[in-house]
Parts: sequence; C-alpha cells; structure tokens
Amino acid sequence: MKIFAGNSDPLKVVTGKRQGLYVKVLRLLFCLILVLAAQFLGGCAEVPITHREGLHLVPESQLLTLSFQQYEQVLKTSRLSSDQGKTHMVRTVGEKVAKSAEAFLKDAGQSGKISDYHWEFNLIEDDNTVNAWCMPGGKVGVYTGILPYAQNEAGLAVVLGHEIGHALADHGNERMSQALLAETGGMALSVALSQKPRETQDLFMAVFGVGVSVGALLPYSRLHESEADRIGLMLMARAGYDPRESILFWERMSKERKAKSPEFLSTHPAPESRIENLKNYIPEALPYYKKSR
Ligand SMILES: [Zn+2]
Repeated sequence: MKIFAGNSDPLKVVTGKRQGLYVKVLRLLFCLILVLAAQFLGGCAEVPITHREGLHLVPESQLLTLSFQQYEQVLKTSRLSSDQGKTHMVRTVGEKVAKSAEAFLKDAGQSGKISDYHWEFNLIEDDNTVNAWCMPGGKVGVYTGILPYAQNEAGLAVVLGHEIGHALADHGNERMSQALLAETGGMALSVALSQKPRETQDLFMAVFGVGVSVGALLPYSRLHESEADRIGLMLMARAGYDPRESILFWERMSKERKAKSPEFLSTHPAPESRIENLKNYIPEALPYYKKSR
C-alpha cells in the first residue's frame, strides 16, 4: 500500500510501462538469486513508500536485539549533554517526527512494522562530531556538533526525519545483509555474532554510521539517500515543520564541506546534488505541512 500521496515511483515515469516491467522482472530475478544464495537466511521485502524490493536477510528480531545492546553500549561510553535546553529540543523534535512516522504507517496499515520500536533520543556531548543516526528500533543519537548546522527545531527535524527515514525503509537491514554477504559469504547474523562477536558488532556500528572514526563508516548509496530524503521530508512536514527548511540546512552543510569533511557528509552524497533532489519532493511534502498547521 502506498503511504505518501503524490508522484509515483519516478523510475516508472522515466522508463515507461514496458521497460518498467523489465525492471521489475530484473529486480525479482536479482532478489531470487540473492535469496537462493543465502538459502534459509531470509529474503526480500518491499520498502514502504517507494515499493522497492529491499534485501532483508537478517531477521528483524535479531537486528533489534543487537541494536538495543549496542545503543546501551554507546550511551555507557559517551558523555551525554548536560545542556537541558538542547536535550529537551532533541527529544521534543524527535518525538514529533516519530509520531509522524507512526501516523504514516498507521494510514498504510503497516503499524506492525514498528510495533517493537522503543523510541529514544539522546544528545551526545561531542562538538567535533557532526553526525546523527537512528539504529533499528528507534534508538537515536545526535551529536552536539551537528546542532550549529541544524540551528533550530526545523533544521533538527531535517536531520531526524532523514535518519528515521533510513530506519523506516530498513536500509540498515539491507546494508547489514550486504555486508554479511560480502564479509562472511552470507553467514546468519546469529552465527556471525557467536563466531566473531567483536567483528560483527563493529560491522553493525559501521553499517549504522555509528563508527567513531570516519574510516569505519560505510557510505550510504544514492538510492538509500534519496529514499531517506523523501521519507524525511514527509515526516518533518507532517510533524509541523516547513519542509523548505531542508534546503537551508543542506546549504549550511554545503558551506561546511568546503572547510572540512564532517562525518554526516562523509557518509552522504554531496549536498549540491541532494538539494536538487529535495526540491523535487517539496511539492509532495508541503500539503502535509499546511495540514499540520
Ligand atoms: Zn542518510
């Protein structure tokens, strides 16, 4: 079922009906091969909103267990911000965006997708880290270093909408599946964890952009970025934040990129191409913003 109103899959428009069919058949074949290769590990699942077939070889329950453990670990080893005002802002915006996510999934009859989520938003004290992430199960970390670029609640909603967008689209499962295929020949997560616990935990952190050093982070693909941007815009708009703020946020990040390369940019495509992409989605998001007011 479709969650968001507006344009359908842009790929379909470009390729036309017949080519669209070929693309579908190819996608199905690709998934079939991967599933056969991975035998009993899992399979493909449709990404909400864009209806793309995503590779989900890791059972969601295992991913959530690992996520909750790793989140605890991050909180234990990080210094949480003592600034109550900023922490409150992160939680307020985060909870609004999370509610918006729940509303979209409810509309689409897909509430079950996040029924095991336990949303949590924490602000980590680290002015040198320009980053934020959302682990599976709604476990969110924001670093104080990204706040100067967010500047206000709407800017923060751009960041959180985008990160929660990755989570809703199960990009983590897809990245973890691909990483396991590449690193362990498709070993089940539970087996990988028991045989190589440290390496598997490191892989998880890299996949979710939580790695401490930039070298340990895996860049997101353009496809995932585009999906997360689109979902993020809808989430922030429905939460009552002007989606046009996303352009201003990425312009600020663009200026930063010329000075140094923060984590949030090293794992994400150039802001200039992203801004062009976002402009295409803003007309789809604006009605949600107007309705929310
Ligand atoms: Zn991203």
